[in-house]
Amino acid sequence: MVTLKLLHMYSNMLDLYGDNGNVEILKYRCRLRGIELEMAQHFIGDKDTDFENQDIIYFGGGADVEQQLLVNDLLSYRENIKSAYKNGVFLFMICGGYQLMGQYYKDSNDKKIEGLGLFDYYTIASTNKRCRCIGNVILESNLNGENYRVIGFENHGGQTKGVKTPFGKVLYGNGNEFKSEADGYMEKNVIATYLHGPLLSKNPKVADYIISYTMSRKTGSVFVPQPVNDKFEEECRKQLFERIL
Ligand code: GLN
Repeated sequence: MVTLKLLHMYSNMLDLYGDNGNVEILKYRCRLRGIELEMAQHFIGDKDTDFENQDIIYFGGGADVEQQLLVNDLLSYRENIKSAYKNGVFLFMICGGYQLMGQYYKDSNDKKIEGLGLFDYYTIASTNKRCRCIGNVILESNLNGENYRVIGFENHGGQTKGVKTPFGKVLYGNGNEFKSEADGYMEKNVIATYLHGPLLSKNPKVADYIISYTMSRKTGSVFVPQPVNDKFEEECRKQLFERIL
C-alpha cells in the first residue's frame, strides 16, 4: 500500500469555516483508492517539523489576528518550505494561508505582514473593515485539461494582486479582488484559493487532482484515481449551482 504524507500547518489557528475538513476529505478519498494518508502537524514553536519529506503541505484560512500571531514562526521556515515546493511537494492553501505565501499582506489596520515570498502576488485589505468580499463563489478551473466548476464560500478583506496563473475564472462572486475575473493561484504543484467550504467536500475532483499529482510524483508513473461513487456529492453540487447561478 502506498502511503502519502501530509503536513497540516497551524490547524488550531487556520481553520475558518471548516477548512480542517479538507484534510479529512483527502484522507477519505485516498482510502477509497487503497492509499494511506499519513498526517503530521506543525504548531507555533515546534522545532523538529520535517517540511521536505512530505507529499502535501496544507494551510487553511485565518483572520488577520491569527496571521499576525503565526507569521514569525512561519518565516523561520521560509527556506524549508521553499525547498519543499521547488522539489515538487504539493502546496495547498486557503485564503489566509494563500495570502501568506505571497510577497506581503497589508491588513485592515494598515499593518504589513511579510509573506514567505514564494510567489509574486501581494495582498492589500481595505482599512474600512466593512469592505469585504463575502458570499458564495463559483469558478471554472482547468484540472489536467478538463474544465471543472468549483464552488465555495469567500469572506476576506484582502485584495490579491499580481496573479498571473489563477486557480479559476470567476463565474459568480468576487475572487482575488472585488468583482475580479479570477480567483486564487495555481501551478502544477500549487492550488491556492479564497474558497472555504470546506473546498474539497464540495469539489471532489479538486481532491482527486491533488491525489493524482502526488501519487504520480511518488510512484514515477501517471496515476489516474479510479472513479468512486460521487452520486451524493454530484446531487449537492447540482442543487447549489441551480440555487446560485
Ligand atoms: N485575514 C484575511 C482577510 O480577511 C483572510 C481571511 C480568511 O482566511 N477568510 O482577507
